[in-house]
Amino acid sequence: MSVENTNDLLALLGPAATAFVNKEHKLFIDGEWVSAVKGETLDVINPANGEVFARVPAGESIDIDRAVKAARRAFEQGAWAEMSPSARGKLLWRLGDLVEKNADELAQIEALDNGKPVNDARWGDVAFSHELLHYMAGWSTKINGETISLVSGAPFHAYTLRTPVGVCGQIVPWNFSLMMAVWKVAPALAAGCTIVLKPAEQTPLTALRLAELVEEAGFPAGVFNVVTGNGETAGAALAEHTDVDKIAFTGSTEVGRKILAAAGTNLKKVSLELGGKSPMIVYADADIDKAVSAIASGIFYNMGQTCTAGTRLYLHNDVADKVLEGLVSHARALKMGPGLDQETQIGPLVSAEQKQRVCDYIASGLAEGATLLTGGGSWGTSGYFVEPTILDNTHNDMRVVQEEIFGPVLCVIRFSEAEEENVVIQANNSIYGLAASIFTQDISRAHRVAKRLKAGTIGINTHHVIDPALPFGGFKQSGWGREMGWEAIELYTELRSVGVAL
Ligand code: NAP
Ligand code: MG
Repeated sequence: MSVENTNDLLALLGPAATAFVNKEHKLFIDGEWVSAVKGETLDVINPANGEVFARVPAGESIDIDRAVKAARRAFEQGAWAEMSPSARGKLLWRLGDLVEKNADELAQIEALDNGKPVNDARWGDVAFSHELLHYMAGWSTKINGETISLVSGAPFHAYTLRTPVGVCGQIVPWNFSLMMAVWKVAPALAAGCTIVLKPAEQTPLTALRLAELVEEAGFPAGVFNVVTGNGETAGAALAEHTDVDKIAFTGSTEVGRKILAAAGTNLKKVSLELGGKSPMIVYADADIDKAVSAIASGIFYNMGQTCTAGTRLYLHNDVADKVLEGLVSHARALKMGPGLDQETQIGPLVSAEQKQRVCDYIASGLAEGATLLTGGGSWGTSGYFVEPTILDNTHNDMRVVQEEIFGPVLCVIRFSEAEEENVVIQANNSIYGLAASIFTQDISRAHRVAKRLKAGTIGINTHHVIDPALPFGGFKQSGWGREMGWEAIELYTELRSVGVAL
């Protein structure tokens, strides 16, 4: 199949996804589908061939303001404000069911829009999304305060009330568009908040399809609003808005800093899930076959466009050649192609800009003295493909080892027995601290090192560790706060302390 022909590619979409993609896309504000006030649109591009296949409204600050007003009304009064926790939980469960029922369609839309392999979208992004909605539905009825014994012994009955934080702005990236939206939407709805969601300009479609499902599930108007548009306009307006109580952001550390500054307008609550440069450490006693497959998925899953991607591989000299031999043959066997092709394992990167950025990093690594073991640059005659790439003989001072590449590029750093204690210090030598992994059969070492690694998620003999019940977030410049688990409910609630004079 030629990836140069849009018609061939679009033929791989099922009828439901085709009908959705071809419709005239609108903003979802206050339960209605509306155009952007200024009437501007953004092109949506197929990363497998660079062609425009849809347009969405380019919302701006005036559209954000309408959405925030709707979210404020829905938060303060009416059906949502008065709804019982049980009814809220049932709506959320129903939304989970609808995501599950429409999973194939959502996966196809995501694969077309983002470029990722459709099976990864189906069994990764979409499956995780409905699991998380179902999981968070359960928390709706379990959000409690406490009774507090007062130190003074004064004749008071004192307790805390845990209540929703209010109107939430949520800004999400393009790498797992639906899933990143659901990570934020599900706990916010479970807590009783209302939402204005701004998806990434590169991948706006699944957020709009999610809004249709929110409508179908029966959420009251204004509870969930979606404004598509640019980060610098719509995103910035949402982060600055003085009637937004909380802003939740996932994306680059650079934009995270801008969100933080913008949130200063009214000192809204902020949670940030930012970049990463996650280390993977392989000791001499590791189970090599298992390590190779975990490392390969650690770096190449989603073409490396994963905030937890294992990008720095610290390899004990005794096993280095064997591990690298396994990784090189694994990388070369991965089937590249358009995401919608069922056989594809490595799709294109999301955009021409991202492809250029990743190719520039590979060139910089080679210029600084790295050895190319496999891959090395772009692939195919159209689309934004980059080959799975392994750079050997890198070291901590190189840009490729310090900066987030967000592409399928693994940097290898070998260490000797004598350097073994020092390797954890090297692994921690990063401005980031999102994830890390250790490969060893020594149970004591595994736990000892897990405690020393400065990262929010640690894998032992595995890399990507992720579950709706596990708190997820970063140390250092990888972010603020923890999403998922009970901790996500904490992000979307405020405590009131109440004292009753007896
Ligand atoms: P980004 O600019 O951080 O985008 C993330 C989200 O923030 C998008 O919705 C974006 O809108 C919005 N945004 C951009 N500027 C904004 C602003 N001034 N105020 C409010 N919102 C704003 O990420 P990117 O440009 O797509 O990717 C750049 C790099 O960020 C990647 O190469 C990667 O290193 C990193 N990244 C990390 C993650 C992660 O999960 N940690 C995810 C994506 C990217 P637009 O889409 O319109 O820009
Ligand atoms: Mg951007």
